[in-house]
Amino acid sequence: MKVMTFQVKTAARSDAVDITASVAEKVRESGIRDGICLVYVPHTTAGVTINEGADPAVMDDVLRALDRLVPWQADYRHSEGNAAAHIKTTLTGSSVSVLVENGRLLLGTWQRIFLCDFDGPRTRKVHVTVQGGDPA
Ligand code: ZN
Repeated sequence: MKVMTFQVKTAARSDAVDITASVAEKVRESGIRDGICLVYVPHTTAGVTINEGADPAVMDDVLRALDRLVPWQADYRHSEGNAAAHIKTTLTGSSVSVLVENGRLLLGTWQRIFLCDFDGPRTRKVHVTVQGGDPA
């Protein structure tokens, strides 16, 4: 299995960065025309999600809703002080899968892939693999 990796710089403690173009580039690099692309974020305080990219207010709303659900300060036991970031990562998850058709990500019109940092700003890693389907 070939794993390709790229890095993403985030700009705030909570930040959602559109990584769709970088993932699409890795799909092209893989040479696989039809299959499944897995995007995996190997961090415990950053995750990955698919949502609307046309209006940037959507991901702002998502991040703000997560802030309300999981406040930075609360009755947490984790001594590092970033328990909220760990909890938000569990809520978003660490991977997404996207179908690949004719060498392109089969995303919906409004869908984009976002790396979500919850304890930034930092440089984060994203792993991508593309697995080919059986020939028709
Ligand atoms: Zn921690």
